[in-house]
Parts: sequence; C-alpha cells; structure tokens
Amino acid sequence: MTTFQDLGVSAPILKALESEGYTKPTPIQMQALPIVHRGKDLIGLAQTGTGKTAAFALPILDRLHKDRKFPGEKSCRTLVLAPTRELAAQIGDSFRAYGKFLGLSTAVVFGGASMFKQKQALYRGVDVLVATPGRLLDHVSQRSVRLDKVEILVLDEADHMLDMGFIHDLRKIATILPRARQTLFFSATMPPAIEELAAQFLDNPEKIAVTPVSSTAERVQQAVVHVDQSKKQDLLHAMLADKGIKRALVFARTKHGADRVAKKLESAGFDADAIHGNKSQGQRIRALDAFKKGQTRILVATEVAARGIDVDDITHVINFDLPNVPEQYVHRIGRTARAGTDGIAISFCAPDERAYLRDIEKLTKQAVPVLETDMSLRAPKPDEKVVRPKGPTGRSAHPARKRAPKKHHASEAHGKAHAKQGHGPNRSRDEGDRRDRKGNAVWSNSGVPPKYRKQRKPTKV
Ligand code: AMP
Repeated sequence: MTTFQDLGVSAPILKALESEGYTKPTPIQMQALPIVHRGKDLIGLAQTGTGKTAAFALPILDRLHKDRKFPGEKSCRTLVLAPTRELAAQIGDSFRAYGKFLGLSTAVVFGGASMFKQKQALYRGVDVLVATPGRLLDHVSQRSVRLDKVEILVLDEADHMLDMGFIHDLRKIATILPRARQTLFFSATMPPAIEELAAQFLDNPEKIAVTPVSSTAERVQQAVVHVDQSKKQDLLHAMLADKGIKRALVFARTKHGADRVAKKLESAGFDADAIHGNKSQGQRIRALDAFKKGQTRILVATEVAARGIDVDDITHVINFDLPNVPEQYVHRIGRTARAGTDGIAISFCAPDERAYLRDIEKLTKQAVPVLETDMSLRAPKPDEKVVRPKGPTGRSAHPARKRAPKKHHASEAHGKAHAKQGHGPNRSRDEGDRRDRKGNAVWSNSGVPPKYRKQRKPTKV
C-alpha cells in the first residue's frame, strides 16, 4: 500500500496529516504527488471530495519548505485561483492545516471582505496566496500585490471559473504571470472550452483523472419526486420531519428562492438557515459554521454559494429546484457521501423541470429512480416527450433562461465606485439572478443555459 511517506511527503507535513486523521493518500493524491514533485505541469480531472486540494497543496508545501526564500515584498511564490470565496477560504485553511509545522505564510483574498486587511496581509509577501480572480486584479491594479515572482500557479475548478465568466480576468492574470512557472490545473469536467483554456495555460502537461463527473458520486443514493411546484414546500416539510435526516443541504435556484424556502422552514419550526451571495461574508461564515457544527440542521443554499463547501456528514442533499445545467446536479449531490460515507440525494421535479431531469439522466447515463409520496404527480413514461418551458414571448419561462446572456457584468474589480452604485459586496457576481444598475437581469453565471455554454468560444489567453 502506498503511503504519504512513499510519495515523498516530508516529516513536518506527515505530522500535520496525522493530526488531520489522513492515514492513506486518495487516488488523486497518489497520481498527482509524483508529477508535481517532478516539476511537471498537470491537468487533474477531479471534483471536490476526491482530496484534490491536498493533491496540489502537499507537494507545493514540500517544495516551498525545501527551497525556502523570501517571497519579496507584496509578492507571492504560489498563486492559487479559485472561483468562489468559500472555496478560496477552504483552500487557505487546507494550506494552513497541512503546513502548520512549516512556518510558511498563507494569505487569502476575495471580494466582499476588507481590502485594507488583505493589503496588510500581502505587504510583507507570502509563500501562498489564494485568491478569487476579480479581487486579485483589484490588488494588482492598486499595486498591493505583484505576480512576477509566482513560481507555481494553481487553477482550481477551472470549469466553474468559465461558467462564472472569469475568462477575461484569467486572461489578464495570465499576461502578468511569469512564463517560467509550474501550472496545476484542476477541473471537474473537461469540455472542449476547458481543454483549450488548459492548453493556453499549461506547458506539456501530464493528465490524471479520477471519478469523472458523468459517473456521478456512486455512493449517493438518488431519487426524484415528481411534484407540483406549489406542493414543493409542503413536501420538504414532510420529508424533513423525519429526524433520520441529520444534516440536509437544500438547493434552491435563486437567492430569493433560497430565502423563501428557509423562512418558511423556520416559521414551521425547523432549524434552518440560508446561504447565498446576497448575504454578507460574515453571515455566510456564521451560517456555514453553525451548519458544520451541527447547530443548524438544514442549510438552504444556491448552487454557487454551496460550491466547494466541504462539510462532512451531510446525510441528505435535497434539490428543491432542479438545476438547468446538468453538471450542477452532479456537483450538488457530491456534497453528500464525502470522504467514504454514504448519502442520499432527493430531487423535486415540477412538470416544467422534466427536461432538466432528462438532461441529467443523459449526462449521468442512469435513470434517477422515482420516489412516490402522497404529494407525487404521475411520473412521466420513459419515452414520453418532455416540453421545454416556454414563456409567452416564446422565450423560456424559466427564471434563469429569461434573457440571452448580456455582456460580461462589471466585476469585483470595479471596487468602491461600483459598490456605491448599489453593487457592493453583497451583490456578488456568483449568483444566478443578478441585475445591472437599471435593474435588468444580467448574464446568469450559474444559470447559463447549456446551449450558450456550448456556443461560447474559448478565448485566447
Ligand atoms: P477535497 O476534494 O480537497 O475537497 O477534499 C475532500 C475531503 O477529503 C476534505 O474533507 C479533506 O479533508 C478530506 N481528505 C483529503 N485527503 C484525504 C486523505 N488522504 N484521507 C482522508 N481524508 C482526506
């Protein structure tokens, strides 16, 4: 059996891993560590829950530890780019945990938090900087960080970065980075657009893959309930009355939807909270902490706010709304059954969401078993034609499909002036129902219909 020691992990890191309770490397760690140790570029096809953070963090920490040098003022030796605040914070925590006996420095920067404090953290230079692209560019433009000394670049959840429209930011960042660097690129899916992005960032990379997204988290027991939209809340209450559901993550498609569901749960006496991009960073952290500690039993979240959330022991994922991008379903249900445990994922499917269910089944190459309840509607037959929802104008009636994608929305990078116009930290760029200053819906990142996703051409970086 391969051990962390066999993979060349040095003693202080082994000690930290022991205190984390890691006894053996996961498959992605076994594959990635030797490649990263050799200094090669890497493409890792892996989703969260596979241990991919340690797969890149461990060899990076090893290298920084063995080749210690002053990073330089306002500089960093390793740059990790992540699409969301939650994921960035989590990666930062992982670097700190695995490197707790090394004395290396780590900083995390993302939008919605104090620039001033982040500048202070960056001032003396850091060994590892974890950043969301928009906020990193804010710091670059305000000269609080320079990227010309980056030795190792990690792009985490690259597919999600593209979904969120970060391509322009990534392109800009790529022009600032030194060419001589090691790049590690992780993505849960590898459609052609991502392959092209990877080709632009990487130099002769080695490829590794674990649990491709379309195979779905195999340990997750899935079910779908066909139910009228108006009955979903009652169905949710009926299900959650079962105390066997110890910790449930409920997905709603929009921020308002998440709030509505959580409020109704609370008024019915359930222990619930909501997490989405309209909440302040403090509220998000508190809600997540309470959920992690088991103080809140039910967390209602939007897709993006929940991406990368690493909470052990989520027994149930409930899709109050089905996602219209099938890959998101796989990510959602992957929130349960983490680190070797089992999990249950139940999806509520209203008649106008049946096309999304078909898309999901096509992607995962398996039919989701139907669960009959008192509130169930008749399940459609396998060969029954499903109608994609259309509004009166001929456009889709689905909230996330109302408009064609508009131009790239102003980002975190617009800083204070942007915040003054009512797009402060709470108006995060990472949700499906954002509006521009005139109140028009802008390109919904999490809700980009698949047809647009396919049409988008990868841009040269
Ligand atoms: P990730 O895929 O990086 O989000 O990691 C998923 C979860 O697996 C996290 O809770 C990690 O702490 C945990 N993990 C990562 N590597 C190992 C390991 N070798 N043994 C046990 N747990 C691990």
